[in-house]
Amino acid sequence: MEQIRLYTIAYKGLKNGSYDFDFQVDDALFEAYDRIEIKSGSCQAHVDLKRSETMLELSVDITGEVICECDRCLEDCPIAVDYSGELVVKFSDEINDYDGEVLWMSPSEDMLDLTQYIYESIVLSLPYRRVHEEGGCNPEMLAAFTELSEEEFERIEAEADEDEVVALDDHNRELLEQLKKQMEKSTK
Ligand SMILES: [Zn+2]
Repeated sequence: MEQIRLYTIAYKGLKNGSYDFDFQVDDALFEAYDRIEIKSGSCQAHVDLKRSETMLELSVDITGEVICECDRCLEDCPIAVDYSGELVVKFSDEINDYDGEVLWMSPSEDMLDLTQYIYESIVLSLPYRRVHEEGGCNPEMLAAFTELSEEEFERIEAEADEDEVVALDDHNRELLEQLKKQMEKSTK
């Protein structure tokens, strides 16, 4: 992963007390995670940070919109993001794994990097099924999937078995993958 340091808080110099931080989340973040779950987007992350001697307590709110692949038609689909969460950072020489609530950091660190936390929070906030609103799907794509019935899917797969996959040209392979995806989604 490419190192981006846009979402860091330099807390070392902060006195005990409360602070606000705002981050603009843009394509650079999704690019850093290879645009796998999220293709692009624009969100605002607001962090309310309470600093004390032994820990940082953060309330994080993320709102905005991201673009995912539609589960139904595979075209770009805008999804609203609305996330609220808490994160506690404790300082200790003994570093434990992040357990979803407490993040451990060495007292020698002076920057808190929220890149991973912000990215994962956005992904977690997304609905399980990501689809366009009713009528919003690309009708050409939907028609193409309807034409390719399940029998056809089986035929392509059978041919692939016979000819040891090599017979699948790129076009068929793509259709097969799209169909598999569609069928998996529709049976869930
Ligand atoms: Zn769609």
